[in-house]
Amino acid sequence: MCRATYEISPDLTVCADCSSGQQTGQPLKGILEVELRGIIDPPYSISELLPVEPDYFPAIPVGNTPLWEPENLRKSTGFRRLYIKDDGANPTASFKDRASYLVSAAARKYNIEDITLASTGNAGSSMAGVGAAAGQRITLFLPKTAPAAKLVQALQYGARVFRVNGNYDMAYDLSLAFSERKGGMNRNTAYNPLTIEGKKTVSLEICQQLKRSPDLLFVSVGDGCILSGVYKGFRDLVQLGVIATVPRIIGVQAETSDALCRAYSTGRFENIPTSTVADSICVDVPRNGIHALAMLRTFDGEMMTVSDAEIIQAQSYLSSSTGLFTEPASAAAFAGFQKAASRLDRDAVIVILATGNGLKDSTSATLGIQVPETLIDSIDDIL
Ligand SMILES: [Zn+2]
Repeated sequence: MCRATYEISPDLTVCADCSSGQQTGQPLKGILEVELRGIIDPPYSISELLPVEPDYFPAIPVGNTPLWEPENLRKSTGFRRLYIKDDGANPTASFKDRASYLVSAAARKYNIEDITLASTGNAGSSMAGVGAAAGQRITLFLPKTAPAAKLVQALQYGARVFRVNGNYDMAYDLSLAFSERKGGMNRNTAYNPLTIEGKKTVSLEICQQLKRSPDLLFVSVGDGCILSGVYKGFRDLVQLGVIATVPRIIGVQAETSDALCRAYSTGRFENIPTSTVADSICVDVPRNGIHALAMLRTFDGEMMTVSDAEIIQAQSYLSSSTGLFTEPASAAAFAGFQKAASRLDRDAVIVILATGNGLKDSTSATLGIQVPETLIDSIDDIL
């Protein structure tokens, strides 16, 4: 990392020097972060900590998601200060709205009407929805495995959708090529520094809602961009003197798609095909991998894995014990908590980040339940 600083501009993505020699199929080099500017006195409002003025924010209520205090779960687990941050309550039912919102606002500021991105599904449907509110044209490259609900959602919002005959990595490369030829803003996760910056708002909200910093967070990890965004929010609050230290974060990946986890122990990234039921965190090459690893090392974070069976079990247990139906990627964070629970302090303030609504992928959700096969005609059939 070269520590160079740049003025924010619409075509600024990664650091030109650091990203030279970038190979396709490898984590991004030269990812940029937005610096806090000026002196901000508490009580601050979240918009004061963002690099785009509120005048440009699209008319769609992103963020301010509920922090659940799951009573049954607290009793059954013995963790009386367990919380769930429900980001599936965002307008497009995904955490990704936080990034889309800031990117959309920046595009408005610079009079850019076209935004392009690649996505496994959630970022795409999110950008389509936020873009619809802002009156922007959204072009989306989706891998062929994207769940139907996310594809349908993006089309409902009026996005132009190209379905790619390949995986997310292929969609990513095609979207970059498209942006280079056609111009406009590219919202690819991590490549556009405003994505990480938008995602940081979840940490700011959590601290406001708790009126303190949590002791521990569980965050599901695919690309590593949410992880970095969560870290960025806490780092900003430390810089402002609002909290004393960055809390401990445990990143959770699927056993069968664990690129960042492997790199955390080996120090290097391999490009090998992976798969998991949790499509939102199914990533062969974490685009934000280098940056996320640096955060984990600096703040003594931890990475762990859970199996697909554990994710499916966690999804239905979470739904049936709290009333919160999350998609498998969110359930992975809860599965991580369940797996780690025996070694955690029961008095700790623990937050599980739930990143997406379960209706986003109802096919996967049927794995953890018994759908009744028999149709009944009369109440006599069941009594
Ligand atoms: Zn650089």
